[in-house]
Amino acid sequence: MLQLAQPLNFMGTFYREVRQAIIDIEMMFGILSRSPEIKDKPDAKPLVVSEGRIVFDDVQFHYDPERPILKGVSFEAAPGQTIAIVGPSGAGKSTISRLMFRFYEPQAGRITIDGQNILDVTQTSLRAAIGMVPQDTVLFNDTIGYNIRYGRWDATDDEVRAAAQLAQIDGFIQRVPEGYDAQVGERGLKLSGGEKQRVAIARTILKGPPILILDEATSALDSFTEHEIQEALRRVAKGRTTLVIAHRLSTVVDADEILFLDHGRIIERGRHAELLALGGHYAGMWNRQREAAEARARLIEAEREE
Ligand code: ATP
Repeated sequence: MLQLAQPLNFMGTFYREVRQAIIDIEMMFGILSRSPEIKDKPDAKPLVVSEGRIVFDDVQFHYDPERPILKGVSFEAAPGQTIAIVGPSGAGKSTISRLMFRFYEPQAGRITIDGQNILDVTQTSLRAAIGMVPQDTVLFNDTIGYNIRYGRWDATDDEVRAAAQLAQIDGFIQRVPEGYDAQVGERGLKLSGGEKQRVAIARTILKGPPILILDEATSALDSFTEHEIQEALRRVAKGRTTLVIAHRLSTVVDADEILFLDHGRIIERGRHAELLALGGHYAGMWNRQREAAEARARLIEAEREE
């Protein structure tokens, strides 16, 4: 009995680890809730990114036919531009990024990249062209170096290090005794949300995609971490067409265009100053966020004086 128990125990551990790895990968790509019917067309060709122009043309989408989520969304991101998508919770912002990645397909309208409808290209080539920095990064239970190299397996140690430097996470890694070989996860180093996001940024820098989707964390970060992440994002977005689901004021201020999405429609669009001058929904959101940020700053100041 004992003889049998040993291998069974091993099999149990092995099975758990394999299962965990599969879950990790699914979580990382956000495909746990993906509909299984997304298939490449028989004549699907690889996407060719010549300059990185993204066009949403009257895109309509629902998860459930009873409840339309995107009701004719149109916008264009010119090569290298940063487009910020803002709006209330549930407006459909993350849905736009899921459609870009083709985890779902629109029921009407078109999404094109350099003139190619993303429904006509292979999913592998589409996903290879897009770097995604999600709001909540799931890291593998492996070393921190592995987690960065995941962006490009053949990267050299120097390239991994350079990406970590750009993502403002190298300093942190250097201070850990085992450095890049430190284990992360349940039995290893526990990283904060901001640190995990910088690991994801480093991974994306290594991948070097022409198109980026950034989903900013909604949770309040301390101002130092926020600044570090902003800086890392600014560097990774340079020269790439970027869609940001934006929650931070500093991101929207610098965007080439801000889209204010509400109940699945873009109800305001323009640059920060234009939208402030409009005095509409965006201006209202901006003022509320600014007041909240000022109140937070006053609280921190008061605590410091005590
Ligand atoms: P937040 O700022 O809170 O992240 P959001 O604007 O990104 O919100 P989405 O995540 O795009 O909103 O969701 C839009 C709507 O679609 C929400 O009402 C949500 O409940 C619904 N929804 C999202 N995913 C699914 C799904 N897999 N199945 C059914 N409904 C969904």
